[in-house]
Amino acid sequence: MSDLMIVERKLNKKKVIIAICIVLIIIASIIYLVHKQKENKQAKAMDQQIASENTIENEQIQNIEEANLEPEVKKPTPNYTQEAKDNIKNIYKLEGHTAYLTFDDGPSNSVTPLILDLLKEKNIKASFFLLGSRVELYPDIVKREYEEGHYLANHGYSHVYSSIYSSVESIQDEYTRTENAIQQAIGNEEYKCHLFRFPGGSVGGPYASIKSQAIPILEEQEISYVDWNALTNDSAGSKTKEKIIQNLVSTVGEKKNVVILMHDAGDKILTYETLPEIIDFLIEKGYTFDNFYNIMK
Ligand SMILES: [Zn+2]
Repeated sequence: MSDLMIVERKLNKKKVIIAICIVLIIIASIIYLVHKQKENKQAKAMDQQIASENTIENEQIQNIEEANLEPEVKKPTPNYTQEAKDNIKNIYKLEGHTAYLTFDDGPSNSVTPLILDLLKEKNIKASFFLLGSRVELYPDIVKREYEEGHYLANHGYSHVYSSIYSSVESIQDEYTRTENAIQQAIGNEEYKCHLFRFPGGSVGGPYASIKSQAIPILEEQEISYVDWNALTNDSAGSKTKEKIIQNLVSTVGEKKNVVILMHDAGDKILTYETLPEIIDFLIEKGYTFDNFYNIMK
């Protein structure tokens, strides 16, 4: 073999080795790339899983936080501002065409729950002028009234005229006793209704003078009063549904706003039985229903 041939063979051998090396590098690269791609895919899938798990966890945390945020429905609280004072004084002339259903002398365990069921069914909020002595007997009913969004107002403690109207101090004392009873019944010591209804009304009668003396003194203590400008006469006189409706129709007349006096004492089952017709009549007359939370603000 010539020297040239030997050199040529060596060169060919080198070429073959280089080619093999290149092929090996290419194969290694392909294997590496395929492997890398697989890893990327797995990482991506894992990221997605973690992300979706995080979303679920976040949603769960949010749900828990939301549940913690609203542990109870916020109850409206009456306020005693100049606007509230003016509103209650001018209630019959305020904007709108509003009927305020008011129930005095309760609660009773025979009539009040039935009235509450009906008001709930009709989605109407009313106002209850409570007697302290009866609040103490049926605190759970008062709590229900409060929780269902009705206005709890003050009608004194005893409803015995000779007792409550014996002096201005006696009126104040009955008001305070009733307020305390209401606060205890609803478990809210901050609740002040700022609203009194004189038993028998604020005007006239044998106790007219003591009532008119009491009005400015109560006002100094952030207590306003409200009477009524329509009634069913369910406390005396109306012994049938027809009579109740007749009294309602004649006293409502064409009034702009009406504060309707009714009673939910234990013997006032007829008031409850006539209430659907009372409500229908007021709807027909174009009234919307409200209680005093929008007045005392
Ligand atoms: Zn009364």
